[in-house]
Amino acid sequence: MEFATFADRVAAIDAESADLEIVAHVRDLFADAGDDLPVVARFVQGRVFPAWDSTTLDIGPNTCYEAIARAAGTNVDADDVEKRLAERGEIGDVAASYDFGGQQGLGAFTGGGGDSTGSSGGDLTVREVDDTLTELAAAEGAGSQDRKVDLLFGLFNRCSSSEARYLARLVLSEMRIGVGEGTVRDAIAEAFDAPEDRVERALQVSNDYGQVAQVACDEGVSGLDEIELELGRPVQAMLAQAGTVTDALEEWDEAGVEWKYDGARIQLHHDPDGQTRVFSRNMEEVTDALPEVVEFAAETLDEPVILDGEVVAIDEDENPLPFQEVLKRFRRKHDVAKAREDVSVRPVFFDCLHAGGTDLLEAPLTSRHERLELVLAAGPGQPQDRDQDQNQDQDSAEIDGLSLLWLTDDPDEIEAIDADALTAGHEGIMLKNPESAYSPGRRGKNWRKRKPDVETLDCVVTGAEWGEGRRATFLGTFELSVRDGDDLETVGKVATGITDEKLEELTELLDPHIAAEEGQNVELEPAVVFEVGYEEIQASPTYSSGYALRFPRFVGVRYDKDPEGADTLERLRNLQ
Ligand code: AMP
Repeated sequence: MEFATFADRVAAIDAESADLEIVAHVRDLFADAGDDLPVVARFVQGRVFPAWDSTTLDIGPNTCYEAIARAAGTNVDADDVEKRLAERGEIGDVAASYDFGGQQGLGAFTGGGGDSTGSSGGDLTVREVDDTLTELAAAEGAGSQDRKVDLLFGLFNRCSSSEARYLARLVLSEMRIGVGEGTVRDAIAEAFDAPEDRVERALQVSNDYGQVAQVACDEGVSGLDEIELELGRPVQAMLAQAGTVTDALEEWDEAGVEWKYDGARIQLHHDPDGQTRVFSRNMEEVTDALPEVVEFAAETLDEPVILDGEVVAIDEDENPLPFQEVLKRFRRKHDVAKAREDVSVRPVFFDCLHAGGTDLLEAPLTSRHERLELVLAAGPGQPQDRDQDQNQDQDSAEIDGLSLLWLTDDPDEIEAIDADALTAGHEGIMLKNPESAYSPGRRGKNWRKRKPDVETLDCVVTGAEWGEGRRATFLGTFELSVRDGDDLETVGKVATGITDEKLEELTELLDPHIAAEEGQNVELEPAVVFEVGYEEIQASPTYSSGYALRFPRFVGVRYDKDPEGADTLERLRNLQ
């Protein structure tokens, strides 16, 4: 297809605002694209490379301004282009405003498929643009920026104003013609008479709109159904939305509960006889930055797998460090060995998308997790002789790199898992529908991160318990009360969200106010006010207020407040 034809069709789409009409235009474009269909399917979305491919053109706006300026004539420079951009606000408009062509020079002979006449005219093809941009992306090392400008100049030099408009937008990733992934899916379905859900599945699995369009065209639905995950080609990560324990238990028979690790998402593709590659949440390759993950895979995995997980930074005692520490490692391109000395990372996997030649995206979470456990347990360092009679969690807990999955319908058990997660230094918990498939790129209800507390309450601390073991000298599990006139009525106990250091500080603060002690239980005179977060307030006979805070967590001490300033039972009722 000539690039001029592509540009005209895209201009028609650009001028259209109705979604259905846009789909119809894209459908017709696909139907007419012939052999260039894969390229057209990407270009129309403003993509030069497939979504799974982390190759970039690696050109800044200035490279593009310079190429435009050079093609526009000797009296134009990059500053002029930038000035025009400030006036017009959009690079496509700027590119279209120049009269290109006929600029002789090195670029005219080296770029854009070698149109050595330097004349502008509608002979540039979509394929040539694609080939040139691929060559441009591959340029590296000394002089590569000049080479990129030359190649881009070679293309602009052969563009009409409409072609230049969309070429400029394409190379700067600013296509913005209202064609999103959904439009392309619908257009492929319409153009090649395939059901949308089958196109959708093929897109999710391959992440390659060009390939899916071509297969739909050449082989129809049966071809689409045969598209499978491929090692080395990342899949979009399934995403979570915020949610509460209450909602999860209402909607599902049981909730799958996992710790939420505070790190960075990774997708590991490992082939014991081939490559190990690691991708980020955005499907960028991060293999070189995370040698620990590659080593983990080599030591632990003995079959081809695609695993989904989190990479967490750890200190010398293997305790998790904050997320910022992971980021320092994650984006590191140089001196990785040195960076590794400062902060090391370890992977934790919570899902298995492919194992031993089988795709598992459509299998329920519980089966995928069982497979994950088997995959990880196979490593030489892992417990091999798993005694069937032993507690499952105990067994799984020993498997390095495995994120545990608990299945429960008991809110108190979920609370305990949450408390353990926080005590172990993690972010909290994820709630997952045990029956759900893996939906790449979806932020649905099947994965929920427990909602952060929206409101907090200021409660008087009226009691506590001495801890056990290494916490025996600390007060913990603090009883919380609200005011009701001159009285204080209990609403719950908080033991979650408090570090050992903080417990020590709180013990010092509360010790002078101990009014009575019985066994581990301590009665406190009202003196100290805690700010606490919670998930919800429930009517409950357990506490004297008649209410209970669900999932209370310690936020801080209100040093600025005395008990008279604490929240009241009336506020509690209003918040319920
Ligand atoms: P957020 O980034 O706040 O939207 O939370 C979702 C992110 O939590 C995911 O993208 C993962 O990177 C991370 N995460 C940590 N632990 C888990 C887990 N057990 N299951 C799923 N995602 C997790």
